[in-house]
Amino acid sequence: MDKEKVVQFIDEHRQEMLDLWERLVNMESGPDFKEGVDAIIAIVKEILEDEGFTCRVTPYEKAGNTLVAEYGGDPTRKKIGFIGHVDTVFPLGFLKEHPFKIADGKAYGPGVLDMKGGVVSLLYVVKALRSIGYSQHPMKVVIVGDEETAHVHSTCRELLLEEFQDCFVAFNAETSNLENQLSIGRQGGSAYELEVWGVASHTGIAWKKGRNAIIELAHKMLEIDRCSRFDEGYTYNVTVVEGGTAMNTCPDYAKATIGTRCETMEQQRTMHAQLEKIAAHTHIEGTKTKLTHLGGFDPMEVLPETERLFETIRKTALELNLPEPTPIFSKGASDSAYAVLAGVPTVCSLGPQGEGNHTPEEYAIVESLFERSKLIVASVLNIEA
Ligand SMILES: [Zn+2]
Repeated sequence: MDKEKVVQFIDEHRQEMLDLWERLVNMESGPDFKEGVDAIIAIVKEILEDEGFTCRVTPYEKAGNTLVAEYGGDPTRKKIGFIGHVDTVFPLGFLKEHPFKIADGKAYGPGVLDMKGGVVSLLYVVKALRSIGYSQHPMKVVIVGDEETAHVHSTCRELLLEEFQDCFVAFNAETSNLENQLSIGRQGGSAYELEVWGVASHTGIAWKKGRNAIIELAHKMLEIDRCSRFDEGYTYNVTVVEGGTAMNTCPDYAKATIGTRCETMEQQRTMHAQLEKIAAHTHIEGTKTKLTHLGGFDPMEVLPETERLFETIRKTALELNLPEPTPIFSKGASDSAYAVLAGVPTVCSLGPQGEGNHTPEEYAIVESLFERSKLIVASVLNIEA
């Protein structure tokens, strides 16, 4: 039976998977080291080419490259999408003190959980499918090199929206938690800068001439804060403020950084419009305000078909005697948002389980690398379409 064979394939390749995991974690691929990210993209490309995939690499000048690999030629049939990223949040040099290691059933190292383990998993999922000559659906693997920086230095967002058009489901092997929850939706978030220019003056001899940029900004920050609706799923967060030069000088410049969080595209649009409205309304005549959208992640909305895909995965887990996963609307963002925006039901957080991602304590449960690989590959075989 095919399902037994793919599960067995994962069991027979445990050591190979661990070796690849170690190899990928022991390569620097932080946001400041494009060379390292691209080197991993090249390794993944080679592995997929060996499996017969047709690969395209989209290079970016200031961000890690993107790899799109396809298998199964029939263009009339929709594909199964697999999503991952190989970049981490760790600065160059961090790896030296924190190389890959395994202790007490846990694997450590930068990106071991988020999400080099997931990438290893996806590669062995497609290898297992190839080993049984799987041809039910064409496959598309998309591996990204600048997920952690939210694609602010590339056009990867647009590429993803385009590439997922011909998929009908997608699996994202992102970081999973110890509670065995799978993400069927995710919050989105945007970063904004709100700048105010006023008029500088001596606060004693030229008080009337002054236009206080800090006070103008303060009015606006309070207005923004009042717009948060936590219970409805969206918040505005004023998180960094700067301005002013001296105790006796009316400040002519002030700046606030604002992070927004939301659950739907509709909320995202409303929030953007609200910020523009607040920025445009002047409290202190003679001041000027500019709002800049710095970038961000769109929310991953829950499609009705996503729940169906989750059900398939849940039943597959029971079939394999694995712990039963539960669905969650996750607080963190991921590239799954773009598959969903392209209309593709997607289940995320299918990678190994662990905790502490983005910190030096990041670790993944070694056994979960194999369990999740089996879960994904058997779920693919259980998809009806
Ligand atoms: Zn990640």
